[in-house]
Amino acid sequence: MPYFFPDAASPVSISDLIRPEGFVCPCGRVHRAAPLSALAVGPGVLRKLPEMLDSLGIRKPYLVVGGFAMEACGIDVLELLGDRPYVLCTLPKLPRPLPNEEYLARITEGFDPSCDMILGVGSGVINDLCKMLGKNTHLPTGIVGTAPSMDGYASNSAAMELSGIKTSVYTDCPALILCDTLVLKDAPYDSLRSGLGDMSAKYMSIAEWKMAHLVTGEYYCASIADLMMQATAAVMSNAEAIRNREEPAIRSMTEGLILSGIASSFAGVSRPASSLEHSISHLLEMFALAGGRRPALHGLQAAYGVRMGLVFYPQLLASVPTEAGCAAGFRRFDETAWAKDMRRAFGSQADALIRQAEQEGRNTEKTQRERSQNAIRNWPLIAQALGKVAASVDLITDALDRLEIPQADQPELLGYSKQEALDAFYHSRDLRARYISSSLAWDLGILDTVRFPGLN
Ligand SMILES: [Zn+2]
Ligand SMILES: [Zn+2]
Repeated sequence: MPYFFPDAASPVSISDLIRPEGFVCPCGRVHRAAPLSALAVGPGVLRKLPEMLDSLGIRKPYLVVGGFAMEACGIDVLELLGDRPYVLCTLPKLPRPLPNEEYLARITEGFDPSCDMILGVGSGVINDLCKMLGKNTHLPTGIVGTAPSMDGYASNSAAMELSGIKTSVYTDCPALILCDTLVLKDAPYDSLRSGLGDMSAKYMSIAEWKMAHLVTGEYYCASIADLMMQATAAVMSNAEAIRNREEPAIRSMTEGLILSGIASSFAGVSRPASSLEHSISHLLEMFALAGGRRPALHGLQAAYGVRMGLVFYPQLLASVPTEAGCAAGFRRFDETAWAKDMRRAFGSQADALIRQAEQEGRNTEKTQRERSQNAIRNWPLIAQALGKVAASVDLITDALDRLEIPQADQPELLGYSKQEALDAFYHSRDLRARYISSSLAWDLGILDTVRFPGLN
């Protein structure tokens, strides 16, 4: 689809967005998506693989193919490589590969140092494993996608589970992304649900990015935010067509998911792609791994975070904050009780999180007062930014319902208890330094008053 972005004479396609010279933006920066330099999304684009490899000067790729991916298009990829030499590593169908040390070791074992690119065929896990191997071998990576299931294709990090702990490892983003929508439209139904779920998160990410800018002064770019919303709107209004696997709708969702990574590269941070709902998802994943359970699909969890957010936002926006209210909220905060609850919820991982919050001074009266004063001063703009999510609630809810995403009071459908869901929400601000809507609620003294019907 055509996208509007500053410094482009006319609407651009997603492939135009990765032009090497970038885009000069009114925010004062030049936005580039390097090292991503070969991108194709659409029906039948698989056949472009040889010319894309040529354009990057790749002579001998190391192919990492997921078990199911071999049937989806792996065999076609091998055929398309023709006379070009390659080394092949195939991962088993079942159990499904995980983004952990075991599978990284497996693909590392088969690696041949005479290869000049790590080329994955698969979706999230394969892409993340390849990014890790690319980082370790200092080689560029590429991915031939098989499912529009998450927004990590173009991101510059790998979502890993190392020593049983969920960890984001910074890597380069892939140099090559090829998504043939005739392949992706036949992905498992859960992958489609997950992809739509990950896109639904963008309403909140964009709103909370602006909100955080207004409270903490962090960098924000309205043009990138607008670009992300163009892609998101196109996906969310097409939920039924996605469910029916119609190629144009699958294409716009795949583009949206890739664009999410491009927008994050443009911004230099993952703000355009994640906020409260991703923190909730991240915490749920931590709980699953700590309990030796398998987390649900990333996009389904992010969408569950959206469901919680949609219950929470009206409560956050219900009243205009005052200095007295914010001060009273801080007086109710009992640091010892908070630390005790962190240990209950996070066990052995609590200490690192508590230390991080202390080092940052996140929970001191001084920083709380500064942030809440900024929030009070900018409240009309904050309410407007977050209110945009509330204004889209019917569209978001309709799309999530059509793809049977669990409601806020149904965490067990994703394998989580009610307590874990509540912990993921109330402790979402304790995960990292990023300022999100639950951080705002804490600053305004109302986080502990937020309620979820059916959960508490
Ligand atoms: Zn900008
Ligand atoms: Zn995501």
